[in-house]
Amino acid sequence: MNVLVLGAGQLARMMALAVKPLNINIRAFDVGSDTVVDPLSTDIVFGGLTQGIEFADFITAEFEHIDHQTLALCQASGKLRPSSQAIKVGGDRRLEKDLLIKCGVANAQHQIIATKADFDQALNNLSMPLILKSALAGYDGKGQWRLKDKAQAEDIWLDIKAFFDGGVQGLQHAVVAEQMVPFDREVSLVGARDSQGNTLVYPLTQNHHTNGVLSVSIAIEIDEALQAQAKQVFDSIAKELNYIGILAIEFFQIGEQLLVNEIAPRVHNSGHWTQQGADTCQFENHLRAVCDLPLGSTELIRPSAMINILGEDEVPNEILSVASTTLHWYGKSKRPGRKMGHINVSGNDEKQLAERLTLLADMLPEAEFDELKPYVASYKKQLS
Ligand code: ATP
Ligand code: MG
Repeated sequence: MNVLVLGAGQLARMMALAVKPLNINIRAFDVGSDTVVDPLSTDIVFGGLTQGIEFADFITAEFEHIDHQTLALCQASGKLRPSSQAIKVGGDRRLEKDLLIKCGVANAQHQIIATKADFDQALNNLSMPLILKSALAGYDGKGQWRLKDKAQAEDIWLDIKAFFDGGVQGLQHAVVAEQMVPFDREVSLVGARDSQGNTLVYPLTQNHHTNGVLSVSIAIEIDEALQAQAKQVFDSIAKELNYIGILAIEFFQIGEQLLVNEIAPRVHNSGHWTQQGADTCQFENHLRAVCDLPLGSTELIRPSAMINILGEDEVPNEILSVASTTLHWYGKSKRPGRKMGHINVSGNDEKQLAERLTLLADMLPEAEFDELKPYVASYKKQLS
């Protein structure tokens, strides 16, 4: 079976590694260079999208900010899974909010802003503090503003306006203003849906962000009520999108309630622990769904966590001496803050996992793994 992945980053690479034993060949379309590459070596295997589409039995994506012309070509081939519509929803916060409303799932109070009048109205209708997020992310590498009080409003509006003016022309730009949610923690649900509509989800994952980027994910020990609540949201969104593949949903947890933050129509960073911690990892299950193979069990084998390696191309070798620890590099060149690799670690129970996380946090340099030590300490405390 041949599969073309739109995007040639680490997610395509990990898909290729996971499904080689199933005799599924992955080629990746690098949108930057407009060529089809081997996702491991990144060597060009053939030029152009047209050849890539011809090569493929199925087409999928590793990111959601794909130009609409590429998506239309893939959709027209009848091979694209999930559909171009599902991918577009993940890449446009306006469509995403419409979807959440349509599915009746709880999310943060928000308003869409395209003009100064919308902006003024949002300031009146929503309560501070606000977070403003560009609807179409990914064309500047930035596009989030935090507004604490009305005194900052004029400056922030000028900044947003400059952002609209500087963005890709011909696209209608907007930002979504959201009320800041006073969450207790952030969690996410990664799950798979096949073409028959069967769904299987992994255990919820508890996520810690450092400077707005995911730094640590820990699979959550069974909390049946919370898991059922998240599964219900997953099922309604996946059904509405007639989804095929892995879909991730990020939530804010407040008490026992979950509010959807955003969705990602792809394998997700908060699901990387499944490589060692689940019966079938998210990368294999994504391709199983896309290629019409039966889904594999998503059960937790043992408590597991993932630590992101951000902006570094080496870590002390001694981390591999910690039992049940694996290291996954993405083969990318070093840049500040860039996702370069991750570390997975498991334990026979949560206590053992916490001990191993503590050993790792002691070995990894504090400056580069900012907040890891205190976060691991708070996880340990949460267990006792
Ligand atoms: P990523 O691609 O890393 O998931 P993103 O750029 O798509 O991030 P969001 O997930 O929307 O952006 O926001 C990033 C982080 O900012 C969230 O994980 C959360 O910590 C914080 N955040 C976003 N929206 C809110 C909100 N309404 N209330 C409180 N915190 C928020
Ligand atoms: Mg997010």
